Amino acid sequence: MKAIRVRTFGEPEVLKLVDLDIPEPGSDDVLVKVEAIGVNPVDAYIRAGNYPIIPALPFTPGKDVSGIIVKVGEDVKKWKEGDRVYSAGTLSGGYAEYAVCRHSQVFSLPANMDFTHGAAIGIPGAAAWRALFTRARGKNGDRLLVHGASGSVGMIAIQLAVSTGLEVSGTAGTEKGLAQIRQAGAKKTYKHSDPRYLEEIVADCGEKGYDIILEMLANVNLANDLALLGTRGRVVVIGSRGEITIDPRATMAKETEILGMSLFNSSDEEMKEAQVGLYQLMSSGRLVPQIAQQLPLEEARKAHRQILESGNSGKILLIP
Ligand code: NAP
Repeated sequence: MKAIRVRTFGEPEVLKLVDLDIPEPGSDDVLVKVEAIGVNPVDAYIRAGNYPIIPALPFTPGKDVSGIIVKVGEDVKKWKEGDRVYSAGTLSGGYAEYAVCRHSQVFSLPANMDFTHGAAIGIPGAAAWRALFTRARGKNGDRLLVHGASGSVGMIAIQLAVSTGLEVSGTAGTEKGLAQIRQAGAKKTYKHSDPRYLEEIVADCGEKGYDIILEMLANVNLANDLALLGTRGRVVVIGSRGEITIDPRATMAKETEILGMSLFNSSDEEMKEAQVGLYQLMSSGRLVPQIAQQLPLEEARKAHRQILESGNSGKILLIP
């Protein structure tokens, strides 16, 4: 099979298209014939060797695939050949024509979703769910700002929040991104590439502030977020690419909370709970992942250069 292999950590050029044997599933695993692959920012951090948990070399990158189960391990009861699934994690790597996943890493793809949607849900959907519900304890009526709403996680977070009855605002860097987040249900939108956008937010939310901020770029925004939170507000750090200075006193008067979030801490049960919730919303049409671009597998390098840039407005996919 064709697969992308990394033999040394580094720039996107270390992503090489190679021929490999189709991997064999173990007794607890399934083999998925991959139809679409979701590219996540974490794939690029790992490829660069710049992440707390990195795999042994050589490896095939990629956590999110969608496709059809073509083989099941002897101890697997839940899945059978022919099932349409998507993954949130793989054992053999996702950037390939076939991927082995532990049975608990795959989830049913709703009948109304195609494989491109499936490859856009595993990691971003679980991240949005964990940030909004598990960490920030989001509920009906809460005032929410998704700071970086136009990306894969942000677009899903908006749809989850709208379907739960939160009052949703979001930011994007481009007019296209702003239009998409409005379409997804954000009532108030702000352009984070505009130097005056924070003034607009303050003018709109005033003294009340936000109950919850989901933050995609904390190294840029965390200090401002603390000023935008209301009393007992929570900011969840979903993404950060460096350091920032904050004034801890900014958390005191309003008793605000800064909450870290990492999907690596999700238990199998928590992941399942999130994916069951996402399944219900996708099945009923209340959650549709946004696809930005589809590239052939051999263009993995281009996808990795692009994923860390602003203005993608949705999920970049690789198609094997
Ligand atoms: P993505 O699709 O590339 O989206 C990135 C988002 O960040 C876009 O909405 C982008 O907006 C926005 N952004 C750019 N500049 C910004 C700024 N100055 N302020 C606020 N937002 C800004 O990536 P993703 O898959 O949604 O992931 C988002 C972040 O979450 C990444 O850092 C990723 O690594 C992280 N993440 C963490 C976990 C975890 O377990 N903690 C899990 C999944 C993802 P424009 O493009 O419109 O400018």
